Amino acid sequence: MMHPPPCSTRPVVRLRKEREKTLLRYHHWIFSGAIASVSPQPSAGDLIDVVDAEGNFLATGTWESAAISVRVLSFGQPLEDIESFLREHIEAALQLRLALGFSCGEGAPGGRSNIFRLVYGEADFLSGLVIDIYGKTAVVQAHSAGMYRQIETIKDILLALPDYPLEAVYDKSNATLPDAAVCSEVGDRYLAGRRDDTPHYENGLQFITDFEHGQKTGFFIDQRYNRSLVEKFANGRKVLNMFSYTGGFSVYALRGEAKEVVSLDSSGRALDIARKTVSLNFSEEVSARHKTVAADAFDYLYGLEGGEYDLIILDPPAFAKRRSSVKNACNGYRKLNAAALKKIASGGLLFTFSCSQLVSSYDFKMAVLTAAVESRRRVRILHQLSQSDDHPIALYHPESEYLKGLLLHVE
Ligand code: SAH
Repeated sequence: MMHPPPCSTRPVVRLRKEREKTLLRYHHWIFSGAIASVSPQPSAGDLIDVVDAEGNFLATGTWESAAISVRVLSFGQPLEDIESFLREHIEAALQLRLALGFSCGEGAPGGRSNIFRLVYGEADFLSGLVIDIYGKTAVVQAHSAGMYRQIETIKDILLALPDYPLEAVYDKSNATLPDAAVCSEVGDRYLAGRRDDTPHYENGLQFITDFEHGQKTGFFIDQRYNRSLVEKFANGRKVLNMFSYTGGFSVYALRGEAKEVVSLDSSGRALDIARKTVSLNFSEEVSARHKTVAADAFDYLYGLEGGEYDLIILDPPAFAKRRSSVKNACNGYRKLNAAALKKIASGGLLFTFSCSQLVSSYDFKMAVLTAAVESRRRVRILHQLSQSDDHPIALYHPESEYLKGLLLHVE
């Protein structure tokens, strides 16, 4: 019979009978309902060992005072040295991103990309940690007390990465930690360096990444691949970029020689950045083909003449933030898509997205199907879309799949 490693002096979390199943499938989260006992009582962020009901060692993780009680770091093997563990996994995450073509220098053919997600939580075997790279700056978001405890170590590892010279590390964990009270010094700030003036590029286009004040870590990196697809189809089309934020899709559409591009968002601040971004990348003549509209997306669509736009992008914020709101969210997607499908020109292309993790791709497709029926248009799917490859989907951790989209052809 197996027992927890005798060298361990850490608190031990004992699971209820039969509750080890998700761990044996390498899922990283343990909810409180699966736990029989914890001894001695850990503090939030402490390393703990997990054993099954018979006392067999299962995993090492961090104790969290949140709905997710344990975030597993190491399955099957006790974790002894957290610093080596973090270094090994962050370096491995970087090697994958370098293989995908990201670099600090000129980058892959087709243009430089020094904006990318370096660490995507469980998908990089680092539950509770997200790190985005903007040129020479790393923006770190801890989603767990365990990772927040290690933030100084993480910073040191980042500044010493062998194949990517970072100069600044910004902590943006204030909004993402489940229980800020356990980490008394949380506050978004530079842990090292300061804002640098090196341009930030995605596929050779320059972007203003507002990670100090903007949403998420400042830029919606997950849409990179889908933006390229918009570029590919934009030629000669009149484009409406709904929920444009700082104009990511709009800039690609302009490079793809769209006839006209309208960026619409309710945030005037985001639209200011969108205008600046366009003029950073294009001549005055091309920039003149871009317009911004500060408005509510639904009101704008309802008031629109039919046939005005022949490429529409719908990339709204997450409509479902909790399980109880999934039904309402699907209804929201139905309404939004029906409005766009009714108004898009014949032969038009609709790029439609949901970034609600709780809404499955099946649910989303059903909402769009209902919208298509309601619009009385003939609609076909040309592409089924997902998040970009620097946000890998962990097979063992379905929660890592959240962005879903469809490219629709509308007759
Ligand atoms: N497509 C963007 C990201 C969209 S984020 C990109 O690729 O970068 C969602 C955006 O929707 C935010 O900028 C937010 O200001 C905007 N928004 C939220 N509710 C809105 C509404 N009702 N009407 C218009 N914009 C809205």
